[in-house]
Amino acid sequence: MAEPSHTAQGYRDVAARIARAAQACGREPSSVTLVAVSKLQPRAAIEPVLAAGQRVFGENRVQEAIARWSGKTEELELHLIGPLQTNKAKEAVDFFDVIETLDREKLARVLAEEMARQGKRPRLYVQVNTGEEPQKAGIAPAEADAFIAACRGVYGLEPEGLMCIPPVAEPPGPHFALLARIAARNGLSGLSMGMSDDFETAIRFGATSVRVGSAIFGARPAI
Ligand SMILES: *Cc1c(COP(=O)(O)O)cnc(C)c1O
Repeated sequence: MAEPSHTAQGYRDVAARIARAAQACGREPSSVTLVAVSKLQPRAAIEPVLAAGQRVFGENRVQEAIARWSGKTEELELHLIGPLQTNKAKEAVDFFDVIETLDREKLARVLAEEMARQGKRPRLYVQVNTGEEPQKAGIAPAEADAFIAACRGVYGLEPEGLMCIPPVAEPPGPHFALLARIAARNGLSGLSMGMSDDFETAIRFGATSVRVGSAIFGARPAI
């Protein structure tokens, strides 16, 4: 069980490191949003981070996020950062402010239908599988331009940016650079990239949001 002052301190440390990394490359610290990844964390670990002022949180699973955050959503900005099955799209559109894992046409179609039906427009990020890893979600880099065009032209969606999770065993820089190039040539301004081990590198490559869990909260409890 995480000890409260410990996670508040972890949060302040990460926020300070983000500010320093931004300033080091001539960016405003406020140009980088910290998405605090609260998946699998106990309430006692999250409360001090809320109390310290953090309002943007990321979750991997729709049901877990609803169980943790329902009733609290007005003051918060919640991001879905895990793979989304189409049979959960209805709940995801209803619940999340940002869906970062749009990665296939069927999901684009179902999200567009749900958004029209519910009159809600969560902000969307297209996940790109920059390492082309078979086990990982995301559109292949070579298919990204066509997919983004289809999101816009066929489904009437307006993605805000791109998201990636580089392969664990590779230096992340080239993956961040690739994501930034795909975003730039498609006129997308949002770059969700960088996690606990590499968020400072991601900021150098232009990340506009970083998704940080264990550097704030400590190791996640085993499932
Ligand atoms: C779990 C997770 C994170 C946070 O990972 P840490 O290494 O704990 O910072 C970020 N992004 C995604 C997509 C995740 O699943």
